[in-house]
Amino acid sequence: PSKMYSKAKLDVWTMFNRAAAQANAVNLGQGFMSFPPDKLVIDSAIEAVSDETAAQYAPPQGRPQLLEQLAEHYGPLVGRKLDSKTQVMVSSGANEGIFCALLAFLELGGTDEAIVIEPAFDQYKPNIIMAGGTPVFVPLRVQSDKDPTREIISSNEWKLDMAELESKITSRTKILILNTPQNPTGKVFDLQELEQVAAIAKKHNLLVISDEVYENLYYDDNKHISIASLPGMFERTVICGSVGKLLGVTGWRVGWLVGPQHLITPCVAAHTRTTFVTCTPIQDATALAFKKAYANDYFNIQRSEYLARRQKLMAAFDSVQLPYSVPHGSYFLLVNAARVRIPDDFVIPDYVSERGHSFELCYFFTVKIGISCIPPTEFYSNENLHLAENYVRFAFCKTDDVFEETARRLQAIK
Ligand code: GLN
Repeated sequence: PSKMYSKAKLDVWTMFNRAAAQANAVNLGQGFMSFPPDKLVIDSAIEAVSDETAAQYAPPQGRPQLLEQLAEHYGPLVGRKLDSKTQVMVSSGANEGIFCALLAFLELGGTDEAIVIEPAFDQYKPNIIMAGGTPVFVPLRVQSDKDPTREIISSNEWKLDMAELESKITSRTKILILNTPQNPTGKVFDLQELEQVAAIAKKHNLLVISDEVYENLYYDDNKHISIASLPGMFERTVICGSVGKLLGVTGWRVGWLVGPQHLITPCVAAHTRTTFVTCTPIQDATALAFKKAYANDYFNIQRSEYLARRQKLMAAFDSVQLPYSVPHGSYFLLVNAARVRIPDDFVIPDYVSERGHSFELCYFFTVKIGISCIPPTEFYSNENLHLAENYVRFAFCKTDDVFEETARRLQAIK
């Protein structure tokens, strides 16, 4: 095996899904929905798979009907009319889309650098390395008058220090990966922050991979803005999106990239050599479901449902006075568990404890309290993971019964 894989540690998704199943925990770990997709989504899939013309390979770039739908969907977000033939491609999940963009623009040999803003979804770093690049990390830092170990703060108080970001840029920096709304903090980058990032990207001629998979999940006054909509940014940005999040079907594995032709064409070439093409009937199902979603005001309804879910999960933690960062986007709640004491007689296996306190806390929540969660230290490089040792991530793409059981089980830590 390659060094990378022979040394690979167990990924957190497998670790905590296994622990959750064994402990019969309510699963607020991995971000998958505990509710079925809307009927319009299932109906679209049945219709698509029943069409015999959808049984064979799609073009590598994607099925034309989905490309057209995506061009229409993203036009308003980027503030221009998009050409479905040249400015959009379909990938086998957003993960693969991001990987294709990295493959397309990083040279082999480790000389190209890609900036990653931490905490960062755990796929970015290995994907950069697999594509031959070198990841360089810049952490968000909590800037608040409040004490986050005792008081509720806002996810938007996780700030990117622009001088620190710029200090990490070298002549080898080629890419910056941005994620907004952000996993796991729930931060939604505001216009001013995006303008500052855009100015740095333009000054240093960077390509921005903008992971916007939680684009429809923003709350309060924090509307999602794509960095590609800012002046001079469309030409240097690849937006990444996902059907899993937009339609509540994480198992469909359909995602996409949106950007100018000179950036999308190499991504299509990388996709062709990675998975070749993406599942044809699921592409058609996605296109059909998008049409029905618009006709039924699905996206606005979805947002209000998630807002209600966020309130229920926050209320559960309020009831035991555990503070958190109020997520203004995405479906994750970052809880500060600094005051949770793990009893001395609670046995934590070595494969967990060797990965730090956040893993120990998550193991304790999963096995002892019966609520599974994810350690956000997995979203950090070694140099920055001390920033998240006391945090634990809970997903709220879940149903009321899960929130009720969570609230009940949490009383054990009062
Ligand atoms: N995006 C999902 C999350 O953060 C998980 C995706 C995965 O399991 N790789 O929960």
